[in-house]
Amino acid sequence: MYPGLCPVCGALLAENEPGFCPKCAYQLPRIRYDSFTDNPVCDKLAGKVRFNRAAAWLMYEKESAVQMLSEQFKYSGSRLLAKRLGTMAGDFLSSLGFFDGIDILLPVPLHGDRMEKRGYNQSEWIARGVSEVTGLPVDTMSVCRQSATSTQTHKHYWERQENMSGVFTLTDPADTDSEDIINPLSNRHILIIDDIITTGATLASCGSAVWRAKPSFVSFMTLAMA
Ligand SMILES: [Zn+2]
Repeated sequence: MYPGLCPVCGALLAENEPGFCPKCAYQLPRIRYDSFTDNPVCDKLAGKVRFNRAAAWLMYEKESAVQMLSEQFKYSGSRLLAKRLGTMAGDFLSSLGFFDGIDILLPVPLHGDRMEKRGYNQSEWIARGVSEVTGLPVDTMSVCRQSATSTQTHKHYWERQENMSGVFTLTDPADTDSEDIINPLSNRHILIIDDIITTGATLASCGSAVWRAKPSFVSFMTLAMA
């Protein structure tokens, strides 16, 4: 089914069309930016975690093309769609200088159960798409996810916040104070990547884990903002 059909409307794509039909590509609700340090994505993270910059590519709304896209991530065959969207988001943000000074792309890890069900981590494939544009390495090893949080959409805001703390940990050898073990995140500017930011709790929790590896900076990027 993919590539060949527009993932939003199902229209047949011409041979060289980049993933979407022209009408849907034009209508994707891109977010405009005056600043990467002061914007609605930053507002969601402010006070939860220290960070350098943050941005999302698209605005997520119910019944929208972006919701249709995110629902397709549930199917295991959608790796290439996730990667394609990562490439498009990467192109857009790269033209605005968002990746200047970033050293490493770090997709938010998926918990083992969810990974097994879905067969892939959508954030990892989004990061691979961003990597294709930027040439930056993707780190899927340094951070791991501890416990399932799949029921969190039914919980209240503050419970969700609580639920996320301690979910992410550094994997060895990064989680050590020993000086002679190489820590790949240390003194690097790490860009944490996820598919969507809603409350910001997941990204903030992942960011807090990354800060323990003593990076120079932590920044955030998602495909969409709800
Ligand atoms: Zn279309």
